[in-house]
Amino acid sequence: MFTVTANQILPATVTGSWPRPRWFDVSMWGKPLDSCLMDIRYREKLQDALAVVVSDQERAGLDILTNGDYHLDEDMAGRSWHHYPLQRWTGLEGDHMQAVDNRSAWLRYPPGTLLYEIYTGWRWPRVTGKIEHRPLDYAKLWRMAQSKGRKPVRFGTCCSQVMSLFLDIHTPLYDDLRQVIWDLAVAMNTELLALRDAGCKCIQIEEPCLHFMANTYGPDHEKVKFMLEAYNREVQGLDDVEIWIHTCWGNPNMQRVMENTSYAASMQLYMEQCRGDVWTVEMRDRNLQDLELFARFRDSKKKVCIGTVSHRNLQADRPEDVAAVLRKALEYIPAERLIASSDCGFGRQGCNREIAFYKASAIAQGANIVRQELGLPATPIPATDPALQIDVVPRA
Ligand SMILES: [Zn+2]
Repeated sequence: MFTVTANQILPATVTGSWPRPRWFDVSMWGKPLDSCLMDIRYREKLQDALAVVVSDQERAGLDILTNGDYHLDEDMAGRSWHHYPLQRWTGLEGDHMQAVDNRSAWLRYPPGTLLYEIYTGWRWPRVTGKIEHRPLDYAKLWRMAQSKGRKPVRFGTCCSQVMSLFLDIHTPLYDDLRQVIWDLAVAMNTELLALRDAGCKCIQIEEPCLHFMANTYGPDHEKVKFMLEAYNREVQGLDDVEIWIHTCWGNPNMQRVMENTSYAASMQLYMEQCRGDVWTVEMRDRNLQDLELFARFRDSKKKVCIGTVSHRNLQADRPEDVAAVLRKALEYIPAERLIASSDCGFGRQGCNREIAFYKASAIAQGANIVRQELGLPATPIPATDPALQIDVVPRA
């Protein structure tokens, strides 16, 4: 159900993760949030960092904010994005290197490449017992962020499907990874229902692997069908929340992780078969490939959130660049169903804060350019106010 974007045309947002302030140098490392918050240094730094990310995104001019994923550990290539739930649910133990025979073909890169270093450096729990939900504190984390600002904060989380890629089974309780994926999906659903009950109106599920799977096996393969079922189980009972489905082609330390980055095989899966309200797609870094395929879905109710700046490119895009992407998107997607965002987050060992800030503001400013062309009201953007710049050039 549309909640935060119900009355917005061309709203501007970013994917989720945001570079940390340098002084926010503490992480949870598997400890419960409540234990961490009793440490006054952690408490102060997390609270202040959340105030900063909300303030930065409001100043950039975004309409829908994120919490920067600041609850995630500051670890190599953003491992904590998929590790945070695995550290906290039952049935998962340890920090192990995944066996070579069990590795997905998607994770095999040759020595001498950054992705080899990342995928061999990451450590994972093994499945040693029945996987069951234990609290991830998403509700509390969302309240901590939402209380810092007035615009809506969307809460994002890694999807069960991508977590399952790294798990080796070391228990007779499971003989098939699909059972593991299903139990992970049920556990995440329990957490998301609690997040909804706390008042969060917009939840983003990050990286169901349907686009990876459809390109590897074909969209009608039984493995893809199972993943679709598991995704829909993960968001069951959330019909009163605005559900965003985030997909991209990789972001460990800003890296693309697949060569074939076409959405052609997964368009129908995401637009018609996945529960949810908004599908987010990586576009800018792929030179807008597949944008024209959205013409087939003109009558769909689902909104499309287009990546208008790349998280991999360090050049801070100009508002005109973003406006050009949005104008092109409007050829295939009606304005009332179009949302402007980044391709992915800026914070998984990503770019620095200034680059993230000016990319984000370019999204907001670019959306304003196109709104004005359409005769629609613009969002006020503090970052562009000449009287509010850090430095003002004096007259001679
Ligand atoms: Zn992403």
